[in-house]
Amino acid sequence: MRSKSFRKTIGYILIIFLVFLIISGISYNVIISIQNKNNLMDIGDYSPISTLVVNENKVYKSKFPFIDVHSHHWDMPIQDLSKLVSEMDSLNMAYLINLSGSGLATFFGKQGLMEKNLESSIRNVKNNFPKRFGVFFNINFNGIDNDDFKNTTTLLINEAVNKGAIGLKVYKNVGLNLKDSKGKRVTVDDDRLSFIWEECAKLGIPVLIHSGEPKAFFDPIDKFNERWLHAREKPNSFRVGDQYPSFEKVMKEQHNMFRKHPKTTFINAHFGWYANDLNRLSNLLDELQNVYVEFGAVINELGRQPKTARKFFIDYQDRILFGKDIYKMDEYYIYFRVLETSDEYIEYFRKRHGLWRLYGLDLPDNVLKKIYFENALKMFPSIDKSLFN
Ligand SMILES: [Zn+2]
Repeated sequence: MRSKSFRKTIGYILIIFLVFLIISGISYNVIISIQNKNNLMDIGDYSPISTLVVNENKVYKSKFPFIDVHSHHWDMPIQDLSKLVSEMDSLNMAYLINLSGSGLATFFGKQGLMEKNLESSIRNVKNNFPKRFGVFFNINFNGIDNDDFKNTTTLLINEAVNKGAIGLKVYKNVGLNLKDSKGKRVTVDDDRLSFIWEECAKLGIPVLIHSGEPKAFFDPIDKFNERWLHAREKPNSFRVGDQYPSFEKVMKEQHNMFRKHPKTTFINAHFGWYANDLNRLSNLLDELQNVYVEFGAVINELGRQPKTARKFFIDYQDRILFGKDIYKMDEYYIYFRVLETSDEYIEYFRKRHGLWRLYGLDLPDNVLKKIYFENALKMFPSIDKSLFN
């Protein structure tokens, strides 16, 4: 009898415990869903409107005419350039360089299409606005191990320059993704590519090279990563894992290449991904006099360290070119504002590049003129100087 009532008691306790579990489970879920609705939100949605009231000097047109050395216009062969030119006029952009002269065919190694694209782009410019655009050509590196790679590529470089191309742009696949016939990663300082840089030196054209990615793209994607939002939006941009070399390695290979070809003029795109470490970039520019930089896609790095960046721009005023990368009118306004004004707490346009705000560098006019056009005019003698009077 005793054991029967004992079992009954245990049974009641179990039932009460179960009911308790169910009720607490339901209430927990209800609380979480209410919290989600009311308080919690996705970090990507957080968009606080600043209550800070300070002077604002929005800039819609650069103080001096400028040359954008880093732009991509994939449809240039068929593009109506008059629309683009009227936008450029409103920005005070006197001259634009399309780095993608050989078009998307470059990524598929379609040599014939690449040449056609380059020709038609240059023809469109010549027929319509010969003074306002420059076109770079690109190289198909897939045939690196072909017997005739050197001869055909040398010929193609000479043909591109004869057609009117004013420089060579090298995409980031070299040094990261490009593999040779044995499946080995082709490094930027690979000797099989040396003749290319030497040929460009011989022809007097610069090489604009984008090598690697921002340092954070090589770091673990966790709560400490400054570009975590970027990793979520564009996971393929990240280079985490064994199949990729480290950031340091990619940088070292690139600098090696600069060092081995002192007669070639290199424009290191995106401040060589050292915009967040300007001391290091200073050391690089001090050592390698053939290297220039442009600040496409890194204005957010410069604007978060206005004192250090201002000093850098003054110290290296002869080595910096204006570059933007993505062509978007209202984004140029932020570039102008950071370079020209002393505004504070400027809102940036791309969250995934960082959630911080920017501060103006208030650059002196003589420095502004150099980075806006004077340095580029020296590098590209074919640009009509009367555009800058
Ligand atoms: Zn680019």
